[in-house]
Amino acid sequence: MTYRAPVPDIVFTMRHVAGLDRAVADGVYGDLSTDLAETILDEAGRFANDVIAPLNREGDKHGVVLKDGAVTTAPGWKAAYKGWTEAGWNALPGPVEYGGQGLPTLLNSACVEMWNAASMAFGIGPVLTMGAIEALVQHGTDDLKVRYLEKLVSGEWTATMNLTEPHAGSDLAALRSRAEPVGDGTYRVTGQKIFITYGEHDLTDNIIHLVLARLPDAPAGTRGISLFLVPKFLPDGTRNDMRCHSIEHKLGIHASPTCTMIFGDNGGAVGWLVGEENRGLACMFTMMNNARLAVGLQGVAIAERAYQQALGYANERRQGRAIGAVEGMSPIAVHPDVQRNLLTMKALTAAARAICYMTAEAIDRAHLEEDPARRKKAHERASLLTPVAKAFSTDIGVEVASIGVQVHGGMGFIEETGAAQHFRDARIAPIYEGTNGIQAIDLVTRKLPLSGGETVRAQIAAMRGTVARLLKESTPAFGATAPRLRDAIESLDRATSHLQQSLSSNAQGEALAGATPYLRLFALAQGGAALAEMALAANALAAGGDTDPAHAGRIALCRFFAENITVGAKGLEETVMSGAGFLQDATLALAS
Ligand SMILES: Cc1cc2nc3c(=O)[nH]c(=O)nc-3n(C[C@H](O)[C@H](O)[C@H](O)COP(=O)(O)OP(=O)(O)OC[C@H]3O[C@@H](n4cnc5c(N)ncnc54)[C@H](O)[C@@H]3O)c2cc1C
Repeated sequence: MTYRAPVPDIVFTMRHVAGLDRAVADGVYGDLSTDLAETILDEAGRFANDVIAPLNREGDKHGVVLKDGAVTTAPGWKAAYKGWTEAGWNALPGPVEYGGQGLPTLLNSACVEMWNAASMAFGIGPVLTMGAIEALVQHGTDDLKVRYLEKLVSGEWTATMNLTEPHAGSDLAALRSRAEPVGDGTYRVTGQKIFITYGEHDLTDNIIHLVLARLPDAPAGTRGISLFLVPKFLPDGTRNDMRCHSIEHKLGIHASPTCTMIFGDNGGAVGWLVGEENRGLACMFTMMNNARLAVGLQGVAIAERAYQQALGYANERRQGRAIGAVEGMSPIAVHPDVQRNLLTMKALTAAARAICYMTAEAIDRAHLEEDPARRKKAHERASLLTPVAKAFSTDIGVEVASIGVQVHGGMGFIEETGAAQHFRDARIAPIYEGTNGIQAIDLVTRKLPLSGGETVRAQIAAMRGTVARLLKESTPAFGATAPRLRDAIESLDRATSHLQQSLSSNAQGEALAGATPYLRLFALAQGGAALAEMALAANALAAGGDTDPAHAGRIALCRFFAENITVGAKGLEETVMSGAGFLQDATLALAS
């Protein structure tokens, strides 16, 4: 079963939940119209379906090969990447002055979803290049911009993100790579980096590494980290002092090379400072925030692909008899328990997509709004939503892919169906770009306090606005959507107050213990509100005479989410509220 990009669902979510129509009407997106956006997405969907998706299985089986320091990608990979860059897809969000098309993050996010649904191992490479472009645009010197941006924007060269070291993963304060100034404006970088995605490959002639390292006199901890641009080939064409030492053998995304990189065997790799000395982490965060949303989109992508695969199988596989049928075997898709599985898959995917696209729209407004106060608000909204988009979407990516295996029964455990690959591929996304535990801590400790708590309160108020609309506009087809969503939002409100109080009274353990269930609670309320917005839009269109049968489906999906998934909010609230009590006995329980 291959992938079919769900462009109508994507466009509907962009227009009616993420606010594409509103942003176009407000003039935030310049000349972009919804029609043009749809045409671009149709084209992207075709490329994802026809060129990238057919490579996914072969890439998984073949993996990548390291020989004499060179990495060869799977058959067909190089041609697909070339075709993809030549069609301009890498340049879609890039700055116009460096050959990019300057299109919004929202539009690019929908494309990122499609590239990654077609193949996560393919899609992750450009995510890093796009992040590096953003870091260079914001923090690079003019010289570096002129030298590197055009080729990165076109995709002629790719970029990497070199943070992780064997003893420094989540805790970057521990990193040891070094950079010595040599007095001519360049530095000599030495050290070992592990797990570097596309650190070495044969897709392009050059690879531009963004590397975190310490200057000789740097203060300890995160305040002593600087960012360097270290190209594989120097501007004069000579090979820089770095090599790929080994590649990892992984659970999933086999076609994406994960490299151990050694810098400076022969005195140091030549590098240039990006941003200010000792301010490298802030620069890297420009790149990581962008990449965090993109990894969230990987979760949506793999969930969508797993859902399509499971639905296709469930319609073909015959076992048992449908309720009321008198003879023969029925497709398993008619059995209520299988329907529940399929609906859970689809509803979680739709909710995560909505949250990711809302985040993308907030990022766009944070850059494009003219009024500084509106820019600041949008920036804070994006900051609040980014950890939720990353962690919730990648968690449900794994859950949905796992349900997908279940829907296949024994065949799900057999590689040849492809369901198992989705499950294996999905598993990395909750880990990289900051583990989901770290995202939850970020949400609670850094994002809830934004603007004295006003940012999260405004988000909750907007969710309540959706409930008010439901109470006025919903029809019997919405079932108990309004009361279930209202209860979830009230749970979120109480849990938010509890965590804010914990933070202000310095009860750090209390806040940290509740972080992961709080993030899930936030996502259930936000996802439920987003699906309700979608259903209300579908309802209004149907009432206005639009006969698209998908509208009834959107209302049914919203109802399913509210009545079956949002209801988990109450239990999560209780978990958050019971706080760190369990920690007192954690050592006893874990030791026994
Ligand atoms: C396939 C793959 C590709 C990758 N690509 C890149 C890349 O391109 N560039 C790059 O730099 N890195 C990359 N990474 C590294 C990745 O970002 C790290 O693995 C990740 O950040 C976690 O770090 P760690 O593995 O050291 O785990 P650890 O930091 O050791 O964490 C282990 C566990 O402890 C938890 N934990 C750690 N600290 C805390 C804390 N303070 N509070 C609560 N919980 C905590 C974590 O949530 C996690 O569950 C990649 C990794 C993989 C596997």
